Amino acid sequence: MRKIIGAFLAMSLMLSCAIVTKGKDGKAGTAGEPGLNGKKGADGISGKLVKPEKTFFIDSNLVRKHLYTLAADDMEGRKSGTPGIEKAAVYIENEYKKIGLTTFKGLKDYRQTFTFKNRRTKEDITSSNIIGVLEGKSKKNEYVIISAHYDHLGMKKSGEGDLIYNGANDDASGVTGLLVLAKYFKEMGNERTIVFASFTAEEMGLIGSTHFGKGIDADKFVAGINLEMIGKTPSFGPNTAWLTGFDRSDFGKIIQKNLEGTGYQLFPDPYKKFNLFFRSDNASLARLGVPSHTFSTTPIDVDPDYHKLTDEAETLNMTVITQTIQAVAKGTESIINGTDTPTRVIIK
Ligand SMILES: [Zn+2]
Repeated sequence: MRKIIGAFLAMSLMLSCAIVTKGKDGKAGTAGEPGLNGKKGADGISGKLVKPEKTFFIDSNLVRKHLYTLAADDMEGRKSGTPGIEKAAVYIENEYKKIGLTTFKGLKDYRQTFTFKNRRTKEDITSSNIIGVLEGKSKKNEYVIISAHYDHLGMKKSGEGDLIYNGANDDASGVTGLLVLAKYFKEMGNERTIVFASFTAEEMGLIGSTHFGKGIDADKFVAGINLEMIGKTPSFGPNTAWLTGFDRSDFGKIIQKNLEGTGYQLFPDPYKKFNLFFRSDNASLARLGVPSHTFSTTPIDVDPDYHKLTDEAETLNMTVITQTIQAVAKGTESIINGTDTPTRVIIK
């Protein structure tokens, strides 16, 4: 890629979350309604204590910053085992730290580092999953995992011009979603523990997520939310996404219920012949019984940029990413807060 990005000024709109009703300070906005402290409002009539709802804005500028950083040329296509992906790893670690995520049990920091053999080249590769945690308030031992893969294809060996597989949609967009959701749930609170996993070596065969799956008690994982390629307008139109393996658990139905009235719709994966349920990191956990599904927005049957040098940040729609992140936040709310538990996946 040789294009120069023209600053982050194109879109500064703040899209408010659908659940927002009151100010961040909890003060009532209208006369008579009590504020956070339960005192009466301006007119002194109402005395009923109203629980203030928290406010969180998903900022499309933050979406843009994460996306353009992770898909930048200096990450050199983020191939597992290269200096380029290491830059991405450091960026993700720093973001986890800023948000205030804790480490996953058994790990001394955010890295789960391991060595594996590349199936094609037979070389040994050492790489890391980057894992952070937001401990749940009341259901600490029930985990929801939010994941995306931060690796991609690296660089083309020879040729002229652009040789970098930036992987903006695949899957810098998903990692962007993960980082924004981590900040969101840090602000909003969570009853169940959330594990944020940026997986390595997905492109080499779901290696990072498979490794992660080997070290966990899968029974404790009540749901898996995997984000893949959420940067393009779906064939269903704006404000929609699709979910892989929709019929394999009732996870998708729970999301649909939570999205009712928001104007955003979730559909079952329309690309059955592509077998997408088994082609991303959700599968590594689904094989262990976890209702773990992938959200995507990309019309993958006709997408001209999939696994191409042209998968660049400029081809993505920041509004689609931002709205999809909001929808995932709202759609998974009842699972995160422990009131809904999806049925387990059974793979024969
Ligand atoms: Zn991918």
